[in-house]
Amino acid sequence: MKTVDNIRFILVGTTHPGNIGAAARAMKTMGLSNLHLVSPKIYPSAEATARASGADDVLARAVVHDDLDSALVGCQQVYGMSARLRHLPVPVVNPRQAVARIQQTEDTAQIAIVFGREHSGLSNQELDRCHHLVNIPANPEYSSLNLAAAVQVIAYELKMSFDPTIEVGRIGERRDAIDANDLEHLYKHFEQSLITIGFLDPEQPKNLMRRLRRLFNRAELDRNELQILHGILRAAETIRINE
Ligand code: SAH
Repeated sequence: MKTVDNIRFILVGTTHPGNIGAAARAMKTMGLSNLHLVSPKIYPSAEATARASGADDVLARAVVHDDLDSALVGCQQVYGMSARLRHLPVPVVNPRQAVARIQQTEDTAQIAIVFGREHSGLSNQELDRCHHLVNIPANPEYSSLNLAAAVQVIAYELKMSFDPTIEVGRIGERRDAIDANDLEHLYKHFEQSLITIGFLDPEQPKNLMRRLRRLFNRAELDRNELQILHGILRAAETIRINE
């Protein structure tokens, strides 16, 4: 099985240790942890740990190298992140295209994604080592993202491609599904109730029921919501009957 563990994020010559911490955090939020650092200016550093803010395990496992060559050992594909598009004979793709390409490689392939320095990006020599350049489409007049922000964009695209599931249980209540027959029963109930309360004229129904079907089909009702609607209809009928 293809796994994000085979994708290493390589930060080259990072000046601000805070950015290394923020990058580790960006990775961990998206379930990534394979971080490599090529001659960081100041590292390890309390500022990196502070900015990692709970992702210090990713920092602790980060591998530090003296040069890019050593960080790239074993990597079949190398993607270079570049804010500026120089005239280079290398294909340029956006993050989504890059991730689609990564998905197509064999499962065991090691992939490198290389990020440059805050002030000067990647050198021409380093860019020469990259098989593809990745550019995050941005404001043409202000296209350079903060290093950790660029890491976050790629990490998010990888997450969306490798494991886009939302843990519904954690962000909301449990939703019990209903089926097509439950909906049919609801529409029958609607029709009868709307006739009872005088909202629907059976002689001239127009498209009312069809429109209500369209509305509720779009809403993807769960069982709880279905019961609420039945309850409202029953209450409306009772009021009308008792009038
Ligand atoms: N001033 C530098 C940009 C440095 S930003 C330059 O012009 O090259 C630090 C790193 O973040 C860059 O080297 C690149 O790896 C990444 N990055 C920032 N913005 C990006 C963008 N729009 N597309 C791709 N990578 C970007």
